[in-house]
Amino acid sequence: MSSPQEIAQPTSYVCGNCKTENTANTKFCEGCGHHLTEPCNACSKTVGLSQKFCGKCGTNLEKANQERYEQYEKSLVEAVKQTKLHEYEHALALIQNLSNLNDYRFRSVAEQAAIAARKIEDLRDRTAEDAQRRISEAKKASEEDDNAKVVSLLENVPSALRDRKVETILQRARTKVNETRILQDDLRTAISEKNWLLVGGLLQQLLDRYPQELRYKELAQKVSEKLVRNAKSSAVKGNFGSTLESLSAVPTHASTEELQKLVIWASKAEWYADQVKREPFATPVLGRIALAYTKSAPKLQSAEVDAKELASLLQSHQSASRCPLPRWKPSNKSWLGGDFLLLGLPQMHDLGKHEAFRANPGQLNVAVGLALQGLGHGRINCHFTSKKKKLLGSRRKKPTRCWGLDIGSAAIKAVLLAEKDGRLTIIDSFFDPLPTPTCRKSAETTAPATLLLPALMKFAREKLTDDTSVWAGFPSTETVTHFVSIPSVKEKLTQQLLDKEISQKVPLSREDIEVAQWIGEADPENLKGRPVTLSIARKKYLTDYIDTLSTAGINISGLQCDALALINFATFEFSELAELGGNDQKSSSEKEDAIAFLSCGASSTTLLVVSRRIHWYWTMERGSEAVNSLIARHAKVTLEKAEDLKRNPTELADPASQYAMVEKSFLVIRARLEVALRDMLKQNDQVDITSTWCMGGGSLTHQWMRLIAAQEESS
Ligand SMILES: [Zn+2]
Ligand SMILES: [Zn+2]
Repeated sequence: MSSPQEIAQPTSYVCGNCKTENTANTKFCEGCGHHLTEPCNACSKTVGLSQKFCGKCGTNLEKANQERYEQYEKSLVEAVKQTKLHEYEHALALIQNLSNLNDYRFRSVAEQAAIAARKIEDLRDRTAEDAQRRISEAKKASEEDDNAKVVSLLENVPSALRDRKVETILQRARTKVNETRILQDDLRTAISEKNWLLVGGLLQQLLDRYPQELRYKELAQKVSEKLVRNAKSSAVKGNFGSTLESLSAVPTHASTEELQKLVIWASKAEWYADQVKREPFATPVLGRIALAYTKSAPKLQSAEVDAKELASLLQSHQSASRCPLPRWKPSNKSWLGGDFLLLGLPQMHDLGKHEAFRANPGQLNVAVGLALQGLGHGRINCHFTSKKKKLLGSRRKKPTRCWGLDIGSAAIKAVLLAEKDGRLTIIDSFFDPLPTPTCRKSAETTAPATLLLPALMKFAREKLTDDTSVWAGFPSTETVTHFVSIPSVKEKLTQQLLDKEISQKVPLSREDIEVAQWIGEADPENLKGRPVTLSIARKKYLTDYIDTLSTAGINISGLQCDALALINFATFEFSELAELGGNDQKSSSEKEDAIAFLSCGASSTTLLVVSRRIHWYWTMERGSEAVNSLIARHAKVTLEKAEDLKRNPTELADPASQYAMVEKSFLVIRARLEVALRDMLKQNDQVDITSTWCMGGGSLTHQWMRLIAAQEESS
């Protein structure tokens, strides 16, 4: 073979296309116009198209052309591949140059490329059209929540043609289809295991997704029949909890009016059963509930037995003890300490007229406390009557008769105490519920005095025929009270200490406030200092209050806040709370017995803790009237009707849900009481509560005593 150097420059070019012989300097064939030369692909020297080797660098031009041809073929193959991947633009780009080739050597390639390009463009257009149709159908199916259709439509759209939004629609539909598949699998398993509760729940979910699916609807119907049958058989056994469980598993699509009635009936019966099971005292309300329970479940023997037992307890109960309520089965242990009981019938001495207490158990205690102080008894000797005002009242020698007048926000309550030869007797009483409690929301636009005046005038007219002294109470919520401890110092210095304490704790000027201060005895061991109670009220409030009373015709001898009046009542009623005698055998290191009192009025709740040496109370502005608002709102009745329903919850259409808010509100009150007591015990760690007494009209609200005081409900 010749070496490259020996190859001579050609003297003429024969056209490869038409075989015409052209002279060496010609660029295009004189016979057909085809170009005759191109640059050598290695050295760029001009070479003829039909030349076998480059005259300058010796490159094998035939071989190079063969390689070019193969390269073009590869591009064609790649274009087909990209087309299959729906990457049409890429495919077209690959072959665009090929179809433009104007070279007789690559004519077949150029023709193939041109045909391919047309096919690809056609395919591209048809696929795009098809994808567009599928996408728009899929969007519609997606709106209709037909996820299986969305998936089948979009899975047939080439991924190259799915934008991000379409991709999201597809993914979401896939997830849902998958979930449905799982639900269907679970449903099959649940049916094979005859777990109808689960079947009901799964069908509910499937029907939520496919509400028109006939086989789910039919299945729901069948399962509903089974569940109702199970519910009824649980009810016969008195197991209303599982009755409700079965009924609630019925898919809503299979729900009927009859089923709704069944649910309300069962939830009522369950609520009744729960009350009878948990309430610690036999109250008339519980008696009514037990009776309603027997009517709900007429074949249930245990309901019958409980109702009879409760009825006979209520009939035969002749209480001579403080708590006028017969005990029922559950425990009455209190979280505060000891047992909790209703302080309904005070046992103090010869009480005399018990009727008022029996008619309104637990509601006259503040009035008694006020009258006691008027007669000079009880622990608290300080009061809120300013010296000037006190002169207006009867200031003869120490009175022997005194009315205690408790002006509540729902009723006016009064007790007349008389003292003869050192013996106290209740000789009269007064109880007049207000037509509208002053704290009722509907009463908010009326001044409290306007609502109170008629009842106060009635009291003055009926009871104040002579100049018997009257001690009136006012709400503790109008006072700020501090329980402090001061060192044992001389009397004059004590007052200075207290004045300093008051000026530090009260931001008002001394002229604008009235202070009731009680100073206890020092600890026998002198470790704790002297306990002091500073109760402070605004003078303006007090003078307005006294004015209202005198407008009604009541001229008072004394004015006390109701919590301090309760302390007087408590220390008199419970002789163990009397001041320390000489025969104290307890050493100071031991715990000091105390009694807790929970008083619930219409507008406030008070927790009081009293021991021999100290007392403490905490009042919150939330009482039984708040319960009326809750019932009114949830049973959609007036506040007045709510008051009736509260007394007889068996008349509630759906007590389980309508009374639930009441229960919740009691637990909120309880939680706040727990915090208050915890703070108090931090200051008085020696106090040990041995019994807990409930009182006030609100404490008789159904469930109040249990939810506020019982141990088991602890939060
Ligand atoms: Zn030619
Ligand atoms: Zn070359």
